[in-house]
Amino acid sequence: MSEFQRIVLVHYHEIGLKGHNRSTFEMRLLKNLEALLAAFPVVTIHRIAGRLCVFLREGTSLDVAVACADAIVRVPGVARVSCGYKCERDLDAMARAARDAMGEAGGFSTFKVAARRNHTDFPIGSMDMNRIVGAKLCEAFPEATVRMRDPDLVVGVEVVQNAAYVYARSVPGIGGLPVGSSGTVVGLLSSGIDSPVALWRMARRGAVCVGVHFSGRPQTSDESEYLVDDIARVLERTGCIARVYVVAFGDVQREISLCAPPSLRVILYRRLMFKVAERLAARERAGALVTGESLGQVASQTLDNIRATDAAVELPVLRPLIGTDKLEIIAQAEELGTFEISSQDAPDCCTLFMPRKPETHAKLKDVLAAEEGLPLARWVDELAASAEARDYACPAYRPPRQA
Ligand code: ATP
Ligand code: MG
Repeated sequence: MSEFQRIVLVHYHEIGLKGHNRSTFEMRLLKNLEALLAAFPVVTIHRIAGRLCVFLREGTSLDVAVACADAIVRVPGVARVSCGYKCERDLDAMARAARDAMGEAGGFSTFKVAARRNHTDFPIGSMDMNRIVGAKLCEAFPEATVRMRDPDLVVGVEVVQNAAYVYARSVPGIGGLPVGSSGTVVGLLSSGIDSPVALWRMARRGAVCVGVHFSGRPQTSDESEYLVDDIARVLERTGCIARVYVVAFGDVQREISLCAPPSLRVILYRRLMFKVAERLAARERAGALVTGESLGQVASQTLDNIRATDAAVELPVLRPLIGTDKLEIIAQAEELGTFEISSQDAPDCCTLFMPRKPETHAKLKDVLAAEEGLPLARWVDELAASAEARDYACPAYRPPRQA
């Protein structure tokens, strides 16, 4: 056990953080991490000179520190996570702490020390710190050699105010902005592969996510709802999803299928989904809808059809996957941890009452003509009112007052 206090340093990209944005960003990330790390032995989290420092309780094991770091790397806004120790501002102490951190970093045969001092009242310059601490580490690890270019391991030594922070094990985070720094979006969440990835991409840009799932109930089973719940639990680990509304869409779909021209059915279903999602977005004070569409992937995802569905709502409809291809989306779903869940087959409203030949170039005037006489306003009211909300832990979320 080291004589020093264990810490996990959280680095974020400062690019794009201007002026007063910056402290809001840091506070948001700090609050998100505090909530997400509730299960770990965290004493406190502080801002220190362009980093957040998570202080771990005395006696915390390496395994627990690493598990804590692993929980942090997937949090939006985190660029890098490093495990190490806090020590006094004293070169001997720094060298001992660096030795302890290095001993826990695993396989390496080359290394370098990267020191920086935040306060010039520390008398030793960073070049000298590199040299002095580096020499002591060479004694402690005689089999390792110093290499300046592309070493296996970089040992960070940072002198900030009246303490020093030393680390070796360091892994990249997923980057982006902290959830809660870019408002709220409502994502149309199927149990398929694409929409969870689309929502996740918005979360990575700082949006609080609320999902809406249209299930085929009562015309189908509620299986897809369980898959969507599993997907939401994966997203919940990063603190980005606040709730999922489940809308039983089967009966209304059936009514549409009975009176609308078959080729336009899919567009009509989708326009109604958008309208219901927009209503829920108003409830959640969300600024946009999000879908997992990618251009040309299926019949409904043509430019003409996108135009005809977007015309159903006033909110912007964001499609973060529009220019990606399926293999890229699958790779992201695997990384996120939703791919396996999404690969399970469950009937949802997408499989229900599908026409044999859906229109790929819908004209808005035909669509509007097909909608004439349908009780759309009533359906939107009823479907939104009967939507069942399931809540997830999202530290940045403020629930709407009326719900
Ligand atoms: P996904 O893999 O996300 O289901 P997809 O390739 O199957 O997408 P579509 O079925 O055409 O494509 O759906 C396009 C988008 O519409 C989805 O990405 C999702 O945002 C939304 N959507 C489709 N079905 C549902 C549903 N049952 N509930 C909520 N949103 C849905
Ligand atoms: Mg789908």
